[in-house]
Amino acid sequence: MNTAPARNLDRSSATAAPFDVESVRADFPILSRTVHGKPLAFLDSGASAQKPRAVIDAVSRCYEAEYANIHRGVYELSARSTEAYEGARARVQRFVNARSANEIVFTKGATEAINLVATSWGGVFLGEGDEVVLSVLEHHANIVPWQLLRERTGIVLKVVPTNERGDFLVDAYEALVGPRTRLVALTHVSNALGTVTPVDEIVRIARERGALVLLDGAQGIVHYPVDVQAMDVDFYCFSGHKLYGPSGIGVLYGRQALLAAMPPYQGGGDMIERVTFERTTFAPPPARFEAGTPPIAAAVGLHAAIDYVASFDPAAVAAHENDLLTYATERLTAHNDIRLYGTVPGKASIISFTMDDVHPHDIGTILDLAGVAVRVGHHCAQPLMDHFDIAGTVRASFGLYNTRADVDRLIDGLDEVREIFG
Ligand code: PMP
Repeated sequence: MNTAPARNLDRSSATAAPFDVESVRADFPILSRTVHGKPLAFLDSGASAQKPRAVIDAVSRCYEAEYANIHRGVYELSARSTEAYEGARARVQRFVNARSANEIVFTKGATEAINLVATSWGGVFLGEGDEVVLSVLEHHANIVPWQLLRERTGIVLKVVPTNERGDFLVDAYEALVGPRTRLVALTHVSNALGTVTPVDEIVRIARERGALVLLDGAQGIVHYPVDVQAMDVDFYCFSGHKLYGPSGIGVLYGRQALLAAMPPYQGGGDMIERVTFERTTFAPPPARFEAGTPPIAAAVGLHAAIDYVASFDPAAVAAHENDLLTYATERLTAHNDIRLYGTVPGKASIISFTMDDVHPHDIGTILDLAGVAVRVGHHCAQPLMDHFDIAGTVRASFGLYNTRADVDRLIDGLDEVREIFG
């Protein structure tokens, strides 16, 4: 199992609290509400995680006490707001162990981060016949931007296949990375299956052939410590909202030299040095890639979310999430009308399944009435669904706040499905 091992991380702190799921649950106000008159069993953190009080309060405090537009203001509030925004960038830098805060670009999410790289880096450094290696495990966010680039430049996309378990096939990958490969753009963790890709081998093979590495960390950073220097990746991206932070903010980490060589992605305020009608010069990264007023309060919320996540011992979190995954797997596989998708050992706490003769949407609707929130459908991974020859699955994904009781609620809900469809 590749867990992108933690090295020199700011994620484990000497003050790490022992992991107590009941006190974690108390940090998340939404978990005390009911849905259709039932207590909420929230099993969809893979799509977007719920927010702890610390994040909600940080965003409120920002608007109540410190809010103004950033960077150009000469007055106190603007200076405070700028400090908070840039403080969030420094927090992200420490969290992923980037060399410099200038390597951290705020985007609106993982999707925008990948589009930024494809458009800006790809638009300049890739040409006809250059190859980008993807895998069949990818989310659409790491497929479509490369297809758009292919239309503009004539690049060639190579796709690493998978097998019945949903493995990332290293041999097939190695065979696809050739002399024309300029970039491998791969997921860290599959959102639909939970497969953790073998980052060390991915990077080693790419380096041997002189290709750059982009990792889509939208799911990975939620479950595993990330150290971009130790992983030796060129680009790493993620979304705040899956990491218990606000929506509307995400991160692109890029090596400084790469970012410095890339042209702007969008034009507007805050990304320039000097504008005349004849010619405009651009600010250095990261400002070059942050045109317009950024998501200021969301950055403050992301800072609080990272502080929150970093307050737990990562080993304790991993043990908790693995326990839920193991328990859910055991309970689901006790029924022979359930088929699991994604059974690679050491996977992340995401479990995808189908039930004989019942459409995933019907399952999702019945579970909802029982207060159980799961995601159903193709999970923005249609090529992966095509691989398994299915339209979609039911996906339960576990976060910090989930319990075995949530799993029991899922299993009871599936019994109701059987009663209705049986
Ligand atoms: N990549 C993966 C692996 C994801 O799970 C997601 C979100 N489902 C994305 C990219 C896109 O993230 P966002 O919609 O937050 O930009």
